[in-house]
Amino acid sequence: MTMQGRVLGLDIGGTKLAAGVCTEEGKLVSSGRALTDAALGPDAVITRAVSLAKEVAEKAGLSLGSLQAVGVGCVGAVEGETGVIVSAPNLPGWHQVPLGARLAQALGRRVFVENDAKAAALGEHRFGAGQGVRNSVYLTLSTGIGGGLIVEHRLWRGANGNAGELGHSTVAFDGRLCKCGNRGCLEAYASGTHIAARARERLAAGEPSTLGELAGGIDRVTSATVVEGVRQADPLSLSIWEETLAILAAGLANVVNIFNPERIILGGGVTRAGPLLFEPLRDKVAARALPQLMKVVSIVPAMLGDDVGVYGAAAVAFAHLASGG
Ligand SMILES: [Zn+2]
Repeated sequence: MTMQGRVLGLDIGGTKLAAGVCTEEGKLVSSGRALTDAALGPDAVITRAVSLAKEVAEKAGLSLGSLQAVGVGCVGAVEGETGVIVSAPNLPGWHQVPLGARLAQALGRRVFVENDAKAAALGEHRFGAGQGVRNSVYLTLSTGIGGGLIVEHRLWRGANGNAGELGHSTVAFDGRLCKCGNRGCLEAYASGTHIAARARERLAAGEPSTLGELAGGIDRVTSATVVEGVRQADPLSLSIWEETLAILAAGLANVVNIFNPERIILGGGVTRAGPLLFEPLRDKVAARALPQLMKVVSIVPAMLGDDVGVYGAAAVAFAHLASGG
């Protein structure tokens, strides 16, 4: 049957939706995007997601019925087995939304839902930088820091589907306040949001820097501006970046020591810094982690780029199908 081995991947983010029909080999047969318009609330977002899913299936020349399953990556905390979105800070009004059941009803297919970072971890394992790797850890350094753990080729889900929240591991016990309520989370330093916030705080305190001019105003400084400042040898940018690398290295050294992975895969907007991030990072992690564990691990950029959402969602479906779930 030519229709075997195709799933629909659906990525539900705070600002955009993405969907695609994906083959087992990782070919995107069709894809599409739409704005989430999260302010309209869960019903409107689900309606949009359903029409986007139908649109990409049609674009691929396939009926929904010919797809094996639908995989979903969604921001927020997911009760994995049932596909209920418990809460999602970037999706206003989403509390205990039975996303999996709603989509299954509207699309007439089996639907498997996972948190978007965990979906991305599965996506990189199946189609990207983690292919063939038994034990890998994925982190997305983005607005926040999400993560997923691949243990023995499978997503490690933990007691209620939430394992891998590496962004909320504590790297400074009395440190900056995180949106989760804890102090000193990795996310409160090394996410794009907090890299920018740390720079803005020091600019506001009067530290000499060209960052304000570079961004067109202190309020407009982003993590990308800080990286540009590093390239231009702006002293404040260099100091912020050095601190970011040190804290990220501490977080990754914990990951190495706890999980003994063969690969750590970093994705998300902050990794656009490229060699400025990856070149110094390994030595800084090695300076903290145990040598015996450090010698088997590589720290690499994610491979799936902007398509990671759709590939990740598709990988969620394939993983469930493979395990007979
Ligand atoms: Zn936190």
